Amino acid sequence: MPTIITHPAVPLAFALGLGREVISGRLLLAGVVVSVLPDLDVVAFRLGVPYAAEFGHRGFSHSILFASVVALLGACLFRQLHSSFRCALLFLFAAAMSHSVLDAFTNGGLGVAFLWPWSDERFFAHFQVIEAAPLSLKRFLSPVGLGVLWSELLWVWCPLLGLAFVSRRFRGLSGRRLQRMNPETR
Ligand SMILES: [Zn+2]
Repeated sequence: MPTIITHPAVPLAFALGLGREVISGRLLLAGVVVSVLPDLDVVAFRLGVPYAAEFGHRGFSHSILFASVVALLGACLFRQLHSSFRCALLFLFAAAMSHSVLDAFTNGGLGVAFLWPWSDERFFAHFQVIEAAPLSLKRFLSPVGLGVLWSELLWVWCPLLGLAFVSRRFRGLSGRRLQRMNPETR
């Protein structure tokens, strides 16, 4: 898995790119929470559930169904999240699903059970470019952890922040053009 620091990169980039008018602060916070939520399944190791089991790590909690249910439940709170139901649903689904997609790009562990409960098959992306974060803190605090952070910076943070800034710039330009075409909106 990428580290817990990197999973929120996707909702943060969306929020940065779309702006506060679309993604409120509360909705962003909810997105950050759901982007790390699937990894609560690591308690399965403590409970003796095997990694490859459907309730093991990267099992049911990394599925499309889980992301859909979490997004749907979260979207029911759309008023508290200062959003619309549709916007909250889409944003939370993207945030939750991005977790599993990023995991699929890592080069360690087992793949992701995207299709649970219909299939137990574990999937990896074709290009496993992200260094998998070690599960032990001791190993993470070694040079291995530094390599993981570097690979996340390169393959996750830089591309996402780049896209967010391009989208922000584009929004700014189109907003100014609209104002020029429609000066009364000023
Ligand atoms: Zn995960």
